[in-house]
Amino acid sequence: MECYQHIKKMACGICSECGKGVCKECILGSENLLACSAECLKLLIEKKEMNEQAKKLYGIGQYASLKRSNADWISMFLLGLIFTVYGSYIIYNSHIYGKGNLDIFIIALGLIFFVISFLYWRRGKKLGFKV
Ligand SMILES: [Zn+2]
Ligand SMILES: [Zn+2]
Repeated sequence: MECYQHIKKMACGICSECGKGVCKECILGSENLLACSAECLKLLIEKKEMNEQAKKLYGIGQYASLKRSNADWISMFLLGLIFTVYGSYIIYNSHIYGKGNLDIFIIALGLIFFVISFLYWRRGKKLGFKV
């Protein structure tokens, strides 16, 4: 294959965007992003960024752990919500259940889950996960 701009020169790579042969002089980009022109390079970089965003969104590859930490904070938050609501419910109906330490214990547990979920959420944010 010859370079698309220099008919006599042998191509040393193929543009990843349009498939044209390019010689050493015309080649743009890096080893895993070969392009024949600035426009092709721009498109390739855009596609690569799109892929990275999709990976983040769907939790693929290096972002798998991110996805997991994101699920963590949601489940911790829900646990916190359940315990606080349940604790408040017991306090609200204390005339039925009688006064005890159980209600305070459950609400405290709920608050602990809220704190954990916040820590998880902050960790996810630091790693660049957009919720
Ligand atoms: Zn090209
Ligand atoms: Zn060339």
